[in-house]
Amino acid sequence: MKRREFITKMGTGVLAAGAGMASVSNAHAAGKRFRWKMVTTWPPNFPIFQDGVKRFAKEVRRMSRGALTIQVFAGGELIPALQSFDAVSQGTVEMGHGSAYYWAGKIPAAQFFTAVPFGLNAQGMNAWLYGGGGLGLWREVYAPHKLVPFPMGNTGVQMGGWFRKKIDTVADLKGIKMRIPGLGGKVIAKAGVNPVLLPAGEIYTALERGTIDATEWVGPYHDLRLGLYRAAKYYYYPGWHEPGPTLEMIINTKAWEALPRELQLIVKNAAMASNLWMLSEFEARNLEALQTLKEKYHVQVIEFPEAVLAELKKLTALTLQEEAAKDATFKMVYEKYQQFQRTHDAWNEISESAYARARRD
Ligand code: CA
Repeated sequence: MKRREFITKMGTGVLAAGAGMASVSNAHAAGKRFRWKMVTTWPPNFPIFQDGVKRFAKEVRRMSRGALTIQVFAGGELIPALQSFDAVSQGTVEMGHGSAYYWAGKIPAAQFFTAVPFGLNAQGMNAWLYGGGGLGLWREVYAPHKLVPFPMGNTGVQMGGWFRKKIDTVADLKGIKMRIPGLGGKVIAKAGVNPVLLPAGEIYTALERGTIDATEWVGPYHDLRLGLYRAAKYYYYPGWHEPGPTLEMIINTKAWEALPRELQLIVKNAAMASNLWMLSEFEARNLEALQTLKEKYHVQVIEFPEAVLAELKKLTALTLQEEAAKDATFKMVYEKYQQFQRTHDAWNEISESAYARARRD
C-alpha cells in the first residue's frame, strides 16, 4: 500500500471512530427505508387488539414519512399465533404483539408484565412500567431472548367470568371446569377448580355443550361479541385474576439496534400512544356492552361473594410464593413488583380509593 493511500484510510477510520458507532450506523441508515413484518397473537379483525396494532403500523408509516413500513399479520396468517415469540426472537420477523404471560412456559417471570391476580390495575401497571422501573426489569428479563419489549395496550380490569351455575360459596367452585389461563388458573385450581386452556375460537362451543362449566374471557365488549351469554347466564365480577393486563409489543434486538434513532423514537412513542388508545377504547365501550347483556339478553351480573374473593386472595399469595421458590428470576421480579405494589397501594389509598369513596358517599 502506498503511504498516501494508507494515511487517507487511517484518517477515515479515525473519523469514524471519533464520531461513535451509533451515529455512524445512523448516518448509514439515514434515508434508508425499512420494511418490517409484525405478527400478532390475535384473530384477524379482533376489535381493539388487532385494530390497535394496525392503527399503530399506519401511524408509524405516516410519522416516519414512509421510512418505516410495518406489515401486520394476525395470528395464523404468517405463522401460528403462539409462535410469534420465537419468530421475533430468531429474527424471522422484526416485531410481534401479544401478551407476555403467553410465554410463561419459557419465562415464568413474564407473567408479571401482563397481570398478577389481585395485583396492579392498568394505572398501576403503567406507573410501575414507565415510572417505577418495571420496563427496565422487563428489558432485562427479555434480553437473553434477543427481544426488546414495550407496553402496548391494556384491557383495564377484566370480568371474573361466565358461570353456568351460581357461585355462592367457596365450595361451589369445587369440581367445576373453567377456561382460565396463567396464574389465575393456578390459584383457582387450589380452590378445587379444574382449569383448562382453550383458544378464543373454541370457548363458546365448549361452554354451550357443557364441556366446561365456566370461562373467563375479556370484558363485556369482547364477551358480547363472542356470544357467551347464550351459553351461561351468570356473569361475575371483578376480574380478580386479571386486574389490568398489559399487552406487549416485542422487537428483535438486532432489528431494533439497526433502526436510526429518529425511527426508534417514533416506534417508542407510537407504542406509548397505542397503550393509551387501547385502554381508552375498553374504558369507553365496556359499559354499553354490559347494558346490552343485561337488558337485551337478561344476563345476571353478580359480584363474587366476599368470602370467595378472600379465599382466592389467600390462595394467590400461596401460589406466588410457590412459583418464586421454583424460579430465581420469578422471585427477583416478584420482590420488586410487590415492593412497588405496596407503595402504590399506599398512595392509591389516599388518592384514587379515597376519591372513589367520596363519590359514593
Ligand atoms: Ca382474560
